[in-house]
Amino acid sequence: MSVWVILPLIASFFNLLLIALVLRSNPRAGLNRILSLFLLVLAVWALAVFSLRMSATLAEALPWQKLALAVGPLGAVLYYHFTLRLTRASLHRTYLLLAYELVILITLLAPSDLIVSGNQMKFYGPAPLPGPFFFAYITIMYALVFLGVRNLVLTIRTSPSHKERNRANYVILGTLCFLGGGITDFLPVLGLRIYPLGIIGNLLFSFFAVVAIVRHQLLDIRFMARKGLAYVVFIAFVVGIYIDIILMISGTRRVPIWTNVVLITLLAVSLQIVLARVQRLVDRVFYRHRYDYIKALEQFSHQTQSIADLDSLCATLVNTIALALEAKNVYLLLPSPPAGDFTVHAASVAMARFSIAADSPFIGWIKRSDQLLTSRDLNILPQFQGLRLSEKAFLKMLSGEIYLPLKGRAGVAGILVLVARPTGRPYSGEDIAMLWAISRQAAVSLENAHLYAQENARLEQAEKLEQMKSDFMVKISHQLKTPLTSLRAAVDILAEEEARNPSPVRLTLVRTMGLGIDSLQRLISRILDLAKIQTATLELHRQPVDLAALVEETAAMMAPALALKKQTLSLELPDALQAVAADGQRLEQVLVNLVENASKFTGREGRITVRVKELEDTGVVVEVEDSGPGIPENEQKRIFEPYYQVKMPGSDIGNGLGLAIVKSLIELHGGRVWVESQVGTGSTFSFLIPSRSDDNDNKEKQ
Ligand code: ADP
Repeated sequence: MSVWVILPLIASFFNLLLIALVLRSNPRAGLNRILSLFLLVLAVWALAVFSLRMSATLAEALPWQKLALAVGPLGAVLYYHFTLRLTRASLHRTYLLLAYELVILITLLAPSDLIVSGNQMKFYGPAPLPGPFFFAYITIMYALVFLGVRNLVLTIRTSPSHKERNRANYVILGTLCFLGGGITDFLPVLGLRIYPLGIIGNLLFSFFAVVAIVRHQLLDIRFMARKGLAYVVFIAFVVGIYIDIILMISGTRRVPIWTNVVLITLLAVSLQIVLARVQRLVDRVFYRHRYDYIKALEQFSHQTQSIADLDSLCATLVNTIALALEAKNVYLLLPSPPAGDFTVHAASVAMARFSIAADSPFIGWIKRSDQLLTSRDLNILPQFQGLRLSEKAFLKMLSGEIYLPLKGRAGVAGILVLVARPTGRPYSGEDIAMLWAISRQAAVSLENAHLYAQENARLEQAEKLEQMKSDFMVKISHQLKTPLTSLRAAVDILAEEEARNPSPVRLTLVRTMGLGIDSLQRLISRILDLAKIQTATLELHRQPVDLAALVEETAAMMAPALALKKQTLSLELPDALQAVAADGQRLEQVLVNLVENASKFTGREGRITVRVKELEDTGVVVEVEDSGPGIPENEQKRIFEPYYQVKMPGSDIGNGLGLAIVKSLIELHGGRVWVESQVGTGSTFSFLIPSRSDDNDNKEKQ
C-alpha cells in the first residue's frame, strides 16, 4: 500500500486524536465543541477518501466519492461557525441557521447525480465527473470559507487583544494550507495534471486550529514565520547548489553516500553568511515600518559615544527605544543628588514629575539584581509587597511593563521603563535581548555624559569666578587711576619745589613717592590691558613694522636702566628684513616687558641679547636671551598664566601679569610665544610674528 493511499487513513486517526485533545482541554466550551465537530467531519472525509483510493473499480469508488462530497459543505459551515465563535463576532443566528439549512440541502442532494454524475480515471486514481450543480456546490462551500476568513482578518485588524489576534493568525495560516490543498483537489477535475493535496492541507489546518485553541501561550506567529522563512529560503539555496554539484559529479559516476553528507555539511557551514543575509532581508520585509529604527538602535551605541550632552542623550535613548520597540511610552529614571533618589528625567511621550527614594526595596532590587523586572514580578514577588504607598502610586502611574536597569562602571546609571505597546502585543524575547544589548552601552554613555556635565559645571563656575575677579580688578583700577594722577601731579610740583630749595631728606622722600606712583600706574595699566584682552575689546592698529628698527629703538630707550645694573645688551639683527603687518606700539610693549624681565632677574653685570631672525615663508622671530637664573621646567608653562610668579629674588617687584599680556598680544597678532630655559644658565624668550597675519588668520588662531 502506498503512502498516497495510507495518508487519508492517518489523517483520519490524527483528526480523532485532535478531537480528544480539544475536548480534554475544555469539553464544555462551545468553541471547543464546534471545533471537535469540524474535526469529526474532516475525519469522516479523510476516511471516505481512503476508501475511495482503496476501491478496485470506478463503480466501487463512486459511493465513497459521494460521501466525501456530502460532508464537504458541512465542514465549510462548521468552519464558518467556528470563526464566528473564535472571533466573538456577533452571531447572526438567522444567517447561520440559513447557512446550516442550505448546507443540509446540498448534503441531501449529494447521493443524486446533480453534483457528481460519476467517476473518471485520472493519473492518480478516480476523480469526480462534475454534475450540473457541481460549480454551485463549490461556490457555496468557498463562500462560507471566505466569510470565515473575513471574520478572522477583521479580528486581526481591529482586536485590541494580542492573544485573539495571534489565535486568528494561526487559524488563517491553517486555512491557507487547507485552501491550497482544496484547490489541488479540484484542479485535476478541470484536466490539470496536479496531485490532489487536500488531505495534507486539512491535516495542517487541523493542527494549527487545535494549537490555537489548546495552547495558551502561543508563539508570536510573525516571529515564527520570520524565522521559518529565512530558513526555508536558506535551505532552498543550499539544496539548489547541492543538486547542481551532484548533477555535475554524477554525470560520470555514482556518488557515495558519505560524499553527500560531507557536501551538505560543507555547504551549510560555508553558507552561514548567506543565512545571515537572508535573515536580514526577511527582517526587512517583516518589519518594514520599524526596520530603520531597529537599525538606529543598533547604531545607538556608536552614536551615543559622541553625544556628550546629558539631555540630548536621554532624549535620543527614550525616543529610539520607543520607536524601535513600538512602546506607548518610555521613561528614563536617573539618580539625582544629593540622596540618589531616582527621578524621571526623560520620556518619549508624556513626562511624569515624580521620584522614587534611593532606599526603596524597588531600587534595592534593581541595584542588586542582574535581571530586568516585569510588571508581573512587581505584583507577585514578596520583596515588593513592602513598598510604600507613595512608591506604589508612582509605579502605578508609570504603568511600566518592563523595568531595565542600566548598569555602568559605577553602579546603576539609570532605569529604563517601557510602557506596554498600544497594540497590547507583549515584548518578545528578541525585543528583550535587544534591550539588554544596548543597556550596557547606554549606561556607560550616561555616566560619561554625567561626568561631562559635572566638568562643565565646574568650568562654568571657575569662569564665573575669574570674571568676577577681573571685574573687581578693573573697578578698583579705574577708581585708583584718578587719585593717582593727582598724586603724580603733586609729586611733580614737590620735585620742582625741591630743585629750588633742596633738602637731601625731602629729595629722597619725593623720589620714593614718585617711584611708588609709577609702579602703581604701571600695574593699573596692565590690569586694564589684560581686561581688554580677555573681553576681546583690545584692537590692534596694524601697520608695516620693521622689527629690527623697533628692537634698536627699544634697546636705546632701556639702555640707561640696564647701565645702572652694569648689564650689557647686545643686538643681533639681520642685514635686511621684510616688514610685518603689526601694531608697533603693542610690539614695543612686548619687547619692553621681555627685556625688563631679563634685566630684573639677571644679576649685576649680566648679559642680555636680543636677536631678530627671519624665517622663510613663516615670519620673523625675536629672541630675548639672558644669563639669569633660568626657570625650572615644570614652571615654564605656568609663567604665562595671569598672576603666576615663580618664587625667586626679583619676583617681588612684579605682579605676574607681564608675560600673560605678552602672550595675549602676540597671539592677537596670530603668532606664538615660548621659552627655552635651563636653571643656572639663563632663559630665552622668543616670539614669532607671522608674515601673513591678516585679520582672518588671527581669528582662526584665536
Ligand atoms: P612679573 O611681573 O612677576 O615679572 P611676568 O608675567 O613677567 O610677571 O613673569 C612671571 C614669572 O616668570 C616671574 O615671576 C618670574 O618668576 C618668571 N620669569 C619671567 N621672565 C624671566 C626671566 N627672564 N628669567 C627668569 N624668570 C623669569
